Amino acid sequence: MIPITDPKGQFIRIRDEIMKKIKEVLSSGKYILGPHVNELELEIARRLGVSDAITVANGTDALVLTLQAYEIGEGDEVITTPFSFFATAEAITRVGATPVFADVDETFNIDPGQIIEKMTSATKAILPVHLFGQPAAMDEINSIAKEHHLIVIEDACQAFGAKYQGKEVGSLGNAACFSFFPTKNFSTMGDGGVIATSDTKIAERIKSLRAHGSTQKYYHHEIGYNSRLDEVHAAILLVCLQYVDSWNEKRRTLAARYLKELQHVPFLQLPPASEHTTHVYHLFCVQSQCRKEITEYLQQYGIQTGIYYPCCIHLQEAYKDLGYKRGDFPIAELLSERLFALPLFPTMSFAEQDQVISALKSFEVNGG
Ligand SMILES: *Cc1c(COP(=O)(O)O)cnc(C)c1O
Repeated sequence: MIPITDPKGQFIRIRDEIMKKIKEVLSSGKYILGPHVNELELEIARRLGVSDAITVANGTDALVLTLQAYEIGEGDEVITTPFSFFATAEAITRVGATPVFADVDETFNIDPGQIIEKMTSATKAILPVHLFGQPAAMDEINSIAKEHHLIVIEDACQAFGAKYQGKEVGSLGNAACFSFFPTKNFSTMGDGGVIATSDTKIAERIKSLRAHGSTQKYYHHEIGYNSRLDEVHAAILLVCLQYVDSWNEKRRTLAARYLKELQHVPFLQLPPASEHTTHVYHLFCVQSQCRKEITEYLQQYGIQTGIYYPCCIHLQEAYKDLGYKRGDFPIAELLSERLFALPLFPTMSFAEQDQVISALKSFEVNGG
């Protein structure tokens, strides 16, 4: 079987280093907000070129705490994409604000032109997602934000290490949120997340929010959360941080091979790669009108595929009260019917990838 992704394969290969670090945590006796979390936060901040990185319990909390730190809440609107993992919009709703969707373009990311159309006097922030590891159009988004005095929060949960015009995602807006969920391209064996920002006031506020609204033990100046990254995950992530660039590079190499080998396959539309971005291919998604037939055909060869995302956020049952309907965001909706991901992960061999490629090429003859 060729899986769509393989976090286990990745961790197993660095098992000894990970076990060594876990033992270090075990014998330190410090399990929450200890030296590994400190070191990880410093390393991530330095890498991204921001003043602060604040780890939290997961990527969703990273978004929630950031929105709350900017005092975005009831009566406020946040413009985001309808084509993302649900948590992007969920976080906006969680703080009491309203997600306002703007359609994506052919890059699968939010279309800056559509953002302008959705702006109202209640708009407080723009929340672009670097979907599948490809940076959104941050220059355009930042200039819209500047003109209208809006906050920009990057949802970089799928894009650690991706670059936009040579600059790391996570350093492009007012703040950025990452997830360490196991299948993400920089991940741990559990849940985790981090916020990157150079806004030191916001960083302090998030540090307080993640620990029950407290900066001094047993004194609470606001209602917060219990949302921290465990030492054991920080330790694992410190090991993975040394490998993430080579893993991303391998992802890019595999993507380049798919792009080359599949370019003339008539029933597939390959993902666009923009010149001024460095895509990290958290997922390699292709489009087809015969998605169902192809994915079932590949399944017979033991090749796993995945559908990201089968239902746009504006059409989710949980959001029926927002009053959106089919047809509101035609590009996102078309992608939800046509897009699917092919296996791509750092430990994938070229031989495995060749199996996927030849199976796809044979679909036309046998299955199509
Ligand atoms: C994974 C993900 C999240 C949420 O991260 P969790 O760590 O699972 O809470 C948010 N946004 C996007 C785009 C994601 O892919």
